[in-house]
Amino acid sequence: MRKKLQVEAICQGTVIDHIPAGQGIKILDRLRLLDSNASITVGFNLPSKDQGHKDIIKVTSRKFTEQEANQLALFAPSATINVIDNYEVVDKFKMALPESLQGAFTCPNSNCITHNEPVDTHFYLREHNGDVRLKCKYCEKSFSKDIVAEL
Ligand SMILES: [Zn+2]
Repeated sequence: MRKKLQVEAICQGTVIDHIPAGQGIKILDRLRLLDSNASITVGFNLPSKDQGHKDIIKVTSRKFTEQEANQLALFAPSATINVIDNYEVVDKFKMALPESLQGAFTCPNSNCITHNEPVDTHFYLREHNGDVRLKCKYCEKSFSKDIVAEL
């Protein structure tokens, strides 16, 4: 079965598909994709059979680090990543919410020890009522992903 792509094919790089509509722009920002030299093609609010609408991001000649993939999972746990080589999908995997994230976000609690000590922040993740909550390993406070991601 051949699925027609809604955004122009790329020769080499990564396609993040099935991003919930509205999250694509956050991902661009969060991963600082626009600051890199990679060419980026985006599709926002595209019709999607299973989701109603979706965003899609295509990044040329770039692969994602594990850290970036983890951040991606936070914003778009239902997304799929397609690794493209010579116009073919050579690898395809679904995002999975990691159990914990290290060094990716700042703790929103200004009294947290992570602001004064040279330690990497460390959050434990869990899903709660459709939201993702991050619990700081150090101050043990829990935050919604939207609060953590906005810092
Ligand atoms: Zn903390």
